[in-house]
Amino acid sequence: MENFTTRSLNIPFPKKDPHHALAMPIYETVAFEFDTAEDIAANFRGELPAHTYSRTSNPTVEYFETKVKVLTGAHQVLALSSGMSAISATLLAICKQGDNIISGKNLFGHTLALFEQSFSAYGLETRFADTTDPEVIESLIDKNTRAIFFETVTNPQLEIADISQFAEIANKHGILLIADSTITPPSVFNSKSLGVHVEVMSTTKFISGGATAVGGLIIDNGTYDWSKNPNCQAFSEKFDKDAFIARLRKNYYRNLGMPMTSHTANYMIAGLDILELRVERCYENCLKLGEYLQQNPKVKRVDYPGLKDSTYYDLAVSQFGGVPGTIMTFDLESQEECFRFMNHLKIIRRATNLNDNKSLIIHPYSTIYAEFPESERLKMGIRPGMMRLSVGIEGAEDLIEDIGQALGED
Ligand SMILES: *Cc1c(COP(=O)(O)O)cnc(C)c1O
Repeated sequence: MENFTTRSLNIPFPKKDPHHALAMPIYETVAFEFDTAEDIAANFRGELPAHTYSRTSNPTVEYFETKVKVLTGAHQVLALSSGMSAISATLLAICKQGDNIISGKNLFGHTLALFEQSFSAYGLETRFADTTDPEVIESLIDKNTRAIFFETVTNPQLEIADISQFAEIANKHGILLIADSTITPPSVFNSKSLGVHVEVMSTTKFISGGATAVGGLIIDNGTYDWSKNPNCQAFSEKFDKDAFIARLRKNYYRNLGMPMTSHTANYMIAGLDILELRVERCYENCLKLGEYLQQNPKVKRVDYPGLKDSTYYDLAVSQFGGVPGTIMTFDLESQEECFRFMNHLKIIRRATNLNDNKSLIIHPYSTIYAEFPESERLKMGIRPGMMRLSVGIEGAEDLIEDIGQALGED
């Protein structure tokens, strides 16, 4: 069985359902009972694995984790309340006060805020670098560096880093390589095969599909020696390859209260089963829209790394099978032209989310990046004439017609 969808549909439940349910039931329960006092004592000693309380684990959530684990070939998977909790829990589990991480400088806005504002207050430093320049990244590493963090495709710049170069640097220095793969879902990207140790992801985007629920994932590929991280050494002695997930579950997931709920897991399970189909449709739409926009004289510039003339096309092919997510940007003459265009759209929605089934458009310069001075915005590649389009699963001909009429062609 090679096909992603066939595999996804045929992953057994961790325990057989007493009623032979075909879909995983939603276990809407907080607590789980034990037959005997001896059993519950054994569970608390860590000798009898079982669900006890849904802030720690839950059968529906466990099934979602199991599916992701089987589909990605990962060692361990943890589902959390959001993409942000996946990122924050990962870094809390590997760092302490005085440590630092190296991060790509173009980041999802709240990740940037987490690093610059939340973590810095606890003495965790982030050193930012251009992900297209591995030499600079290596030069920033010192004895307190615990990880290199990057996004597989930056948004809205749509830059792609050479992951194998990062893996080489991380392995040479014995530090963890963490990828935020939200933009490139597991049907097109396998982080393990490219040398990433830990993958974090917002399942709010592609996996939930219809923008139905907020969620996140931490995927431990089982390829990092946890004894190399001083903060994980004690756990490494006790749990060996499970050190990271054990520390995560005990000290952060449970204690900070970051679990995914069973209802959310149910949406994610359903989304995962049709993920490959949705990604393919969005990708085909991207190519058709790209071709249409590139030949339109009112459009000044089109960026999508899946297009053959993109600087990142070769990396898109080698790392993501040619499907570098399904977000594109295109430029009109000015901000005024963008606003006029966006206000005339009838099918494409004006919204800030990504990878909904619906196509979504936003003008990053006046929204997500509005608080930055103009010179900063330009340095970050945020142009007044640029719009970001998250391409959905509508018919390509309808999207093209909508864009055409909004550009004033009818
Ligand atoms: C949306 C997003 C996040 C945050 O995910 P939430 O589920 O909204 O917490 C993190 N990284 C990237 C790249 C994202 O697009």
